[in-house]
Amino acid sequence: DDSWLTLPNPSGIPVDICAGPDVPIESVAIDELLTVLETADTLRSLAHATPGLDAEPRIDRVVCTPDFHKGAGIPIGTVLRTTGALIPQAVGNDINCGMRVEATSVTVDQIRPHLDRLERRLRHLFFEGGRRIGLTARQREGLLREGLPGLLADDVPAGSGAGSADRAGAAGGAWLQVGPDDLTDLDGRLHSSGYPVSSADGFRDWITSGGGTSYDSIIGSVGGGNHFAELQYVSAVHDGAAAYAWGLAPGQVVLMVHSGSLSLGHQANATGRDQARAAWPRAVPTPRNRILPMLLDEASAPGRQRYLTAFANAANFALGNRFFLALMLRAGLASIVGELRSRQVYDAPHNLMWPEPDGSVLHRKGATPAAGAGGAGQRPIDLYGEPVIVPGSMGAPSHLLRGLGNTRALTSACHGAGRSIPRGAAARGGDAELDAFLREFRVVTPLDHRDPAVAARRDIVDAWRRDLKQEAPWAYKEVGAVVDSLRRADVAEPVVELRPILTVKG
Ligand code: 5GP
Ligand code: MN
Ligand code: MN
Repeated sequence: DDSWLTLPNPSGIPVDICAGPDVPIESVAIDELLTVLETADTLRSLAHATPGLDAEPRIDRVVCTPDFHKGAGIPIGTVLRTTGALIPQAVGNDINCGMRVEATSVTVDQIRPHLDRLERRLRHLFFEGGRRIGLTARQREGLLREGLPGLLADDVPAGSGAGSADRAGAAGGAWLQVGPDDLTDLDGRLHSSGYPVSSADGFRDWITSGGGTSYDSIIGSVGGGNHFAELQYVSAVHDGAAAYAWGLAPGQVVLMVHSGSLSLGHQANATGRDQARAAWPRAVPTPRNRILPMLLDEASAPGRQRYLTAFANAANFALGNRFFLALMLRAGLASIVGELRSRQVYDAPHNLMWPEPDGSVLHRKGATPAAGAGGAGQRPIDLYGEPVIVPGSMGAPSHLLRGLGNTRALTSACHGAGRSIPRGAAARGGDAELDAFLREFRVVTPLDHRDPAVAARRDIVDAWRRDLKQEAPWAYKEVGAVVDSLRRADVAEPVVELRPILTVKG
């Protein structure tokens, strides 16, 4: 079978790489992965120094997705299942980074003639003070503790209608508020899939230690680099039944948001590192790969709970941030077309860990869940499988697939095309390509390169161009080949192709 590769390694842990023949796999990433597997030795040493453990802590299995590439420490596109331990670094720094997709009631033909106006409107909303998200203290805490339902605190006017963009009378004169109608049955709290926030005390500890100190200034930020808020349209339908069930038809405008937990994730990771160090037995030297697992034993439970609380708070914040970014896109669209309906298709986390029913822990770093159909309910997700969101790159198509629940893949798929050129290297070269690209494609960034006053500042524009080149389509793998390898490996089936209309970056 040419869509799977099994990687031999000294620790004997099963490692499978899912990649078709046209998908390049970086050898540096494979080298890094082999270094990560030394953590199996770390776990043995930890167990040796910790008497009375119920089970032997171990790495059970590792899977690499087709967008596998070098990351900080553990490569991006790594799925890792452990028993008796969890590995904070196997989640990625940006806790609950993910993709949210919404299907709108608008078609691409309706908005094509108004793209200049839409671009100005979105620039204002995202970067020129147009974002005024007013959350009450209760909502702010509710979001961290409960996820999106936590936004429905009792001081929000009930049943105040969808869209919510122009609702008056919100806290602090803000125009963005959330009512029950804004949440669909798929909008979640993290409780259902991730670690629950079980300790109110833990929450308060974290808040008072500075973790959550007013996040008002950052909520609604896209975050730099490869994060984005994009308007797309359905350009091809591969699976009509699933597309219909998910509310997607040809020509329809779709919102795609890629964002994470911003500084809250970094804060939670710092808590994780501190707790792992505090629990580290003196007899065990710090591992060379600097990966510090946490044993799931009784003795380290309080510290672990502190970390998991911070972790869940950050993860819930990311859900909220994606939701607000989608509301901002909705607001931009509504200013062009007037009446607008928009419904979440899915919110797919790709930096997260999940406790499994058998006590093991599934870690995904830059990989997205891809469960199959057959859930107990009658919702479209139960009937057709979990929506798998695979963005291409700025200016290139993205794809929506349905998961097949492949256990060889640890029911996981790639979360993008993945880089083909490492970050630093992509900044060099490609001036002519970038100019051609900017003439062809609408990118909204904090800096407006067409403003003459901005264009006069060469230094600033050059830095902006260097950043943009890192994210250009030629810095990424060809998404078609990546999607094809998911299909050939029976990980997920393509449902629709989405072409970009406009991308907000920054
Ligand atoms: P991550 O940053 O989470 O590792 O990867 C996100 C994925 O999103 C990348 O692998 C890439 O395929 C995709 N991507 C990056 N920038 C953009 C963009 O501006 N638009 C779209 N549609 N996809 C992007
Ligand atoms: Mn991220
Ligand atoms: Mn991401």
